[in-house]
Amino acid sequence: AIALRGVTKKFRSRKGKELIAVDNVTLEVSAGTIAGVIGYSGAGKSTLVRLINGLEKVDDGQVLIDGEDISAAGERQLRRVRGEIGMIFQQFNLFASRTVAGNVEYPLKVAGMPRAERADRAAELLNFVGIGDKSKQYPQQLSGGQKQRVGIARALATNPKILLADEATSALDPDTTTEILALLRRVNQEFGTTIVVITHEMDVVREICDHVAVLDDGNLAEHGKVYDVFSEPSSPITRRLVRSAI
Ligand code: ATP
Ligand code: MG
Repeated sequence: AIALRGVTKKFRSRKGKELIAVDNVTLEVSAGTIAGVIGYSGAGKSTLVRLINGLEKVDDGQVLIDGEDISAAGERQLRRVRGEIGMIFQQFNLFASRTVAGNVEYPLKVAGMPRAERADRAAELLNFVGIGDKSKQYPQQLSGGQKQRVGIARALATNPKILLADEATSALDPDTTTEILALLRRVNQEFGTTIVVITHEMDVVREICDHVAVLDDGNLAEHGKVYDVFSEPSSPITRRLVRSAI
């Protein structure tokens, strides 16, 4: 599970002005569920994701991963907890110079897994995401949807409990988006992975999320079950988001 308790993150602009990117956010994502985080550009969604995987340090509050407070963690503990968290991105962030299998094997190589074992694991994962036949290709030879499948296989390589998806379908067409969402749902069902989906597409939330949190200018505007929040939004920002995407 992921628990945020009064999490605040501030940045300072080049002119020295303070900007509160995430403002006193308290939120829980139960283990094994799929949570959506929505909000307009600049609302603090990506910052929230970076706080969850410890890439940014909180200024105030706590981030707990399975009860472990990473806001107070040292480098070693942080590395271990990060091993429990996989991440996928809008631009896929694959290594162009590595093959598909090489991309999936990379985190295993870093973790010190022997070569033969790595290859087996990569093959297994690539079959799972449906591109077992592409292992020797390079990312530039793949479609966007295939690239994201590689991204998902790589993120799952170390068997993380949590998968963070920051606009992971935003660069894909509607049909490919549907396919990738179906794959994420399978990941959730087969491995029990807790998934956090950051998106500006309300349909993505409707399609796979159990719960949704709405961020507005760093503040948690509301959160709850998707159906409840979308059918009876309690905040103006949610009404705007829902209305803009019928
Ligand atoms: P988008 O939908 O455009 O991806 P977002 O909701 O992910 O937006 P964030 O990237 O989290 O928004 O940014 C939240 C706010 O924090 C923005 O005002 C942004 O300019 C600011 N910000 C984010 N990262 C930094 C940084 N490293 N330094 C300074 N300001 C930052
Ligand atoms: Mg973002």
